[in-house]
Amino acid sequence: MTFSVHGLPVARGIAIGRAVLMASSRVDVAHYFIEPGQVEAEITRVRMGRNAVVEEIHRLQHTISLMGPKEAPHELAALLDVHLMLLQDEELIIGVKHWITERLYNAEWALTTQLEALSRQFDDMEDDYLRERKADLEQVAERILRYMKGVASPVSAPPTPRRKTQQDLLLDDTMDVPLVLIAHDLSPADMLQFKQSIFAGFVTDVGGRTSHTAIVARSMDIPAVVGARSASQVVRQDDWVIIDGDAGVMIVDPSPIILAEYGFKQRQAELERGRLSRLRHTPAVTLDGQKIELLANIEMPADAPGAVLAGAVGVGLFRSEFLFMGRKGDLPGEDEQFEAYKRAVEGMQGLPVTIRTIDVGADKQLDDTVRDKAHLNPALGLRAIRWSLADPAMFLTQLRAILRAAAHGQVNLLIPMLAHASEIRQTMSLIDFARAELDNRGVPYGPVKLGAMIEIPAAALTLKIFLKYFDFLSIGTNDLIQYTLAIDRADESVAHLYDPLHPAVLRLVAETIRECIAQGKGVSVCGEMAGDTTLTRLLLGLGLRSFSMHPAQILAVKQEVLRADTARLAPWAQQMLEAEDPAQMLAG
Ligand code: PEP
Ligand code: MG
Repeated sequence: MTFSVHGLPVARGIAIGRAVLMASSRVDVAHYFIEPGQVEAEITRVRMGRNAVVEEIHRLQHTISLMGPKEAPHELAALLDVHLMLLQDEELIIGVKHWITERLYNAEWALTTQLEALSRQFDDMEDDYLRERKADLEQVAERILRYMKGVASPVSAPPTPRRKTQQDLLLDDTMDVPLVLIAHDLSPADMLQFKQSIFAGFVTDVGGRTSHTAIVARSMDIPAVVGARSASQVVRQDDWVIIDGDAGVMIVDPSPIILAEYGFKQRQAELERGRLSRLRHTPAVTLDGQKIELLANIEMPADAPGAVLAGAVGVGLFRSEFLFMGRKGDLPGEDEQFEAYKRAVEGMQGLPVTIRTIDVGADKQLDDTVRDKAHLNPALGLRAIRWSLADPAMFLTQLRAILRAAAHGQVNLLIPMLAHASEIRQTMSLIDFARAELDNRGVPYGPVKLGAMIEIPAAALTLKIFLKYFDFLSIGTNDLIQYTLAIDRADESVAHLYDPLHPAVLRLVAETIRECIAQGKGVSVCGEMAGDTTLTRLLLGLGLRSFSMHPAQILAVKQEVLRADTARLAPWAQQMLEAEDPAQMLAG
């Protein structure tokens, strides 16, 4: 039966494929694709894990048999029997083999996927006793996972199947049908792992439009919906689903008519992409001759060539924290970071690269295992520059690596989340110190322009202090909106109040642009507002001439730029600043 689940649209387009449910396990589970030649080895890993747990239970049974009923109650023996029975259940093993062989999931992923499928069967059982055995099954699977953790498995690059046509979809049901990932939550680190993967779309239960998970999904340029609340509960493994990233809807088990309709939409979107791609080499100049700088936001050095291809004239925001994620505390050293920054600089072929120093904390933890549970308000806690200043050795390592990369091309150094003059001064001293360290070591480094992100209202209200120290400012609207409106950007339950057009937000953005222009300093917007084509004219009207966004958004924004006349937009934008309801004015 066809039904739909609504969430928030975060990345445009239509994806049609089979659902892959990413099970949430209490044990930290890696998800990656194996090579066909590794299938047997992965099956063996699961088998060895299962055998080890079976042996452990046999040993326990033996110990219990030597005890009296007081030390080892009858229920314990019965429980072990149940665990043994579940471990030997053919459905578990056959299912795991299926996911490894047919889908090339790594062993842990296959096990948790099968666990999820079996758990659903338990949920549907009428009998209370049987239904409660689900917890036993989870315990058994977790024991196997813990055993498997000790048995290493090589991580390999995922295969990339060809994209299927609608016809293929209706007729063919083989392994390389597009897959869409459905999860309760995906951390930015998870998303990064999937960045080069075969998934054709994503849906998560939680998350806001500018949560970092959504941002990475957008950078992958595949349809995505977040904040779809119950999505991972109502979809079953392997269900056919359509993700409509424009409307923020997932359609489950679509009828042939709906499939045909979305197939048509998909083809229209392809045509539109083709049309836009012709603008790649067209300079971004408005009708009244204003040159507009369209820059790329990137997460990894490997994104740089794609940014050049998309027509970016530089990188306006390299979110360097992604180099630090998913490493289980083993942070990259100076040389490793230097190589990564240099790769990004070289990948941009002489165009400028703005590297932002690490911004972790809040919804961007370094590791899934270190989710910030200790602090009630992590978004207001030790994040970004606060984190860096709290660990000067780590910060100096990064600064030295960035300065060294600047010897290989144009590099700008951007500092996130500053609010206090004292933080600015400390940062400046550490940059000087990093240069002095490199001088002492005789290591070459290059000049950098220094920039600050304006993403806390306090910064936007004290621009003169910032402009005294920095060469340019970059407005991080994602956080500026979050902190101005007191809305957690990652919380779908308040997503309706997360409003880029709130008069207070617009005033802070407008004032930052105005003050920079007045003082002859560079200013850009690198938050998601920059890539939103519905806001391009407004930002141009406010005087913005530099936009930084995901490469996939550049051509659509360029199209808006080419149609704009900034002389006419300026008075309209000023009226917008005075409006009680700018969103209504924009729509009208
Ligand atoms: C922002 O806050 O707008 C920004 C660009 O930084 P991030 O999204 O990484 O917090
Ligand atoms: Mg930010």
